[in-house]
Amino acid sequence: MYKVDKKTGDYARASEELAEKLYLLKGQWFYKSDACEVCGVNGYKPYKDGTTPQQLRDAIGQVLYNWSHKEPLKLEQKDKKYWVIENEFRVVKPKVGQGSRYDLRWPYGIGDNSTFSFAESAVVFEGDVVGLGGEGNKGKTAFAIDLAVENCDIHNVTLVCSENVHRLDERLEEVDWKEIYTPDKSDWLFEIIEEKNEQTYLDIVRARKDNLVIIDWLDASKDTYLIGQFYRAASDRIDKGVVMIIQQKRSYKEFAVGGEAPRDYSGVFLLIQTMADKSSVLYVDKVKSYDHFNPERMMYRFEIENKGSRFNKIHEVETCHSCKGKGYTQSSGVSSKCSVCWGAGYIDVIGEL
Ligand SMILES: [Zn+2]
Repeated sequence: MYKVDKKTGDYARASEELAEKLYLLKGQWFYKSDACEVCGVNGYKPYKDGTTPQQLRDAIGQVLYNWSHKEPLKLEQKDKKYWVIENEFRVVKPKVGQGSRYDLRWPYGIGDNSTFSFAESAVVFEGDVVGLGGEGNKGKTAFAIDLAVENCDIHNVTLVCSENVHRLDERLEEVDWKEIYTPDKSDWLFEIIEEKNEQTYLDIVRARKDNLVIIDWLDASKDTYLIGQFYRAASDRIDKGVVMIIQQKRSYKEFAVGGEAPRDYSGVFLLIQTMADKSSVLYVDKVKSYDHFNPERMMYRFEIENKGSRFNKIHEVETCHSCKGKGYTQSSGVSSKCSVCWGAGYIDVIGEL
């Protein structure tokens, strides 16, 4: 929200606010209205000091004009659109291209030691962003918690929670397969930050740039470019650590619209999908680097047990070839339950890779 301060003029305030939010507009042509939006200037209701959003929109317009016409130029202008001129480049030093591997321990099935086999081959580097998106509640928070649990003894871990801290506490009490408390039991071996403001998430990533930072969750139902810029900003801020972004969304369609940029900026991108029989599967959407086999498009059925704290019975599945995942087949206009998968939409993968 726009900070209202009587001492400074509209122009100074607009200029300061926009400078702070400019990174959200990088890498794309944007309009004045986009600039106003990232600064939180909307509506017409006057602020407490009598300033109106319209005055501030005008001030933002002036700032945009000056930044694109006066040296040193911050913006390029084309018709009514602006482009942020990038002046910080990542200068590559020898051997940096090889990257440093990050020993990320993935969640696994606690009851039966079953695993997500993609983890054997997927390579995560320091500075990577890992994304997990999907519908519904099943699985995403369990994934976030278990990732914190599995990594807390080998990495500094920061879990950023946007809601239900009490429920989180309850879930963590279910963790009995691993020590997650300090010796005097006064604290966890990882850090938990409660934060609802999505802009602050990026400040946390900056402040914990060498940690495994797990953000649970980012609302992905908003504008596509904001989601894309969030991923980009997170990957700019993380250094020797890794950011895991759990993306909440309301429907598959919204994901499809906002989906490309998060994929592009992620080293690994996973999706939790709902199948024809309403069960959830973890789908490996993208793995940028891998060792033994390409795990992209691999898919896993799993159970979540003990108040959403642990995975179990993880096994690889594939989309049913007969019904193409629909769960039913049609013949002469009559649809009937698929006789290969019995309506599930998927079948188990048997045997070796
Ligand atoms: Zn089928």
